[in-house]
Amino acid sequence: MLMRIGGAGLAAEDGSWIRVMNPATGEEIDRVPAGSGDDVARAVEAAETAGAGWRKKSMRERGIVLFHAAGKVREAHKDLARLLTMEQGKPLRESTDEVRGFANILEFYGGISAAAHGDLVRLGAAGDALVAREPLGTCGAIIPWNMPVIIMGWKIGPALLAGNTLVLKPASTTPLTNIKLAQILEEAGLPAGVLNVVTGSGESVGESLVKHPFVRKISFTGDCATGQRVRELATKNLKDLTLELGGSDPMIVMDDAELDTAVEGALRGRFYNAGQTCTAVKRLFVHEKIATVFTERLKRRVEELKVGNGLDAGVDIGPLNSPAQRERIAAVVDATREAGEGEILTGGCPPAGGSYDRGLFYGPTLVAGAAPDGRLMQEEVFGPVLPVMTVPDLDSAIREANRTRYGLGASIWTTNLHTARKAFDGIHAGIVWVNRHLTVPPEIPFGGMNESGIGRENGLHAMDSYSRTKTLFLGW
Ligand code: NAD
Repeated sequence: MLMRIGGAGLAAEDGSWIRVMNPATGEEIDRVPAGSGDDVARAVEAAETAGAGWRKKSMRERGIVLFHAAGKVREAHKDLARLLTMEQGKPLRESTDEVRGFANILEFYGGISAAAHGDLVRLGAAGDALVAREPLGTCGAIIPWNMPVIIMGWKIGPALLAGNTLVLKPASTTPLTNIKLAQILEEAGLPAGVLNVVTGSGESVGESLVKHPFVRKISFTGDCATGQRVRELATKNLKDLTLELGGSDPMIVMDDAELDTAVEGALRGRFYNAGQTCTAVKRLFVHEKIATVFTERLKRRVEELKVGNGLDAGVDIGPLNSPAQRERIAAVVDATREAGEGEILTGGCPPAGGSYDRGLFYGPTLVAGAAPDGRLMQEEVFGPVLPVMTVPDLDSAIREANRTRYGLGASIWTTNLHTARKAFDGIHAGIVWVNRHLTVPPEIPFGGMNESGIGRENGLHAMDSYSRTKTLFLGW
């Protein structure tokens, strides 16, 4: 599949390619151009040219394009979901949710377009001020492979509605659905060059985009270390920056929680997308009074999960996305086992035999009593491995929950309102769910505290991060 620059499908200037593999079978699905700095320069030029017309349209006209695109995405959702499963690995059910979620995001921003406007400030004898919202210009969007469709939506929805143009760099293992979606947006009326997709490596395409002097903002989602690098580069020419980075979300289950609901919450919270979700439940703290029964029930449910090719019916967990990803997960579990830093209750290795040997699978794993300062508890574990710890009370649960460098999401499972309120006040996270985890509808702001990132995406708040005010002062 070709990258999209200025409304056309293009190969890389130097003719090189990246192979896109199906992680469930090890087969090549397609190839995309291995773009370079020159390709980024072509895309930025196309975005700058298209920007003049796009920013002149009214907010409502831009919103209508987003609405049309959402409709076309819904029409094509089955093919898009299949493509996403083939390149990313997740079960078809989850890919379908993700593609529909993308349409929801476009509809949300299309829907607010008629209500988004500036302010009139009356200043008495001094005059009046009209505070308008202007787009920033050409923005760069760099996205990861774990939720490539939703994250594309979070970035392009508010950016396009606000009148910006974009150069988007997909992850090299999951570029196909992103390219298809850009094509659908053009078919829905997005002018050529408003949204460009340049494929290629982070070092080449990603860094060229961050360094390009005409790019006014970078919205980056990915690993903390890459985020640090992006920040260093973006600071040099004072680019606006949103960083959505890693997390190690705690889930706290109190002794008054609805037990079965909490077990299902932990199961989905950790094993959705094979555990490769930024706000997955990565550390589970259970009140000591219910710890034994809770852990037994959870273990039973984990052992019922069906691992396999995401295209097959009834599969709950697909493969990990890349060989490096599976090696990282296996290394953390092996280190935990070897250091005696926790007891592996189930899983702890890749399933073997038959079609498993061709794909990048890893068995869903539960670890009891993990060491608080061990790798499993301190690193972001981006796979189907869940450490379960016992806590004596809420205060110690909150203390342990905050014992990382992250602060993305967290959840408290309780039927007591005061307990929920205390957890909300005490936990450092951009979102605290009560009796729920993972759900992020388009209406709410999303982003992290501490090393989980800077800025917010999604919801009305994202409009602020893709625009700036410009004031007309009227001294009558
Ligand atoms: P990554 O940092 O390796 O890659 C993310 C993107 O950055 C890719 O497109 C990659 O090609 C590009 N990139 C790599 N090096 C670059 C460089 N030097 N300059 C510019 N771009 C570069 O991350 P990943 O492994 O693809 O994604 C997993 C991480 O993303 C996890 O840490 C996860 O928690 C995080 N994540 C965060 C959120 C959030 O909203 N906070 C959402 C999803 C994923």
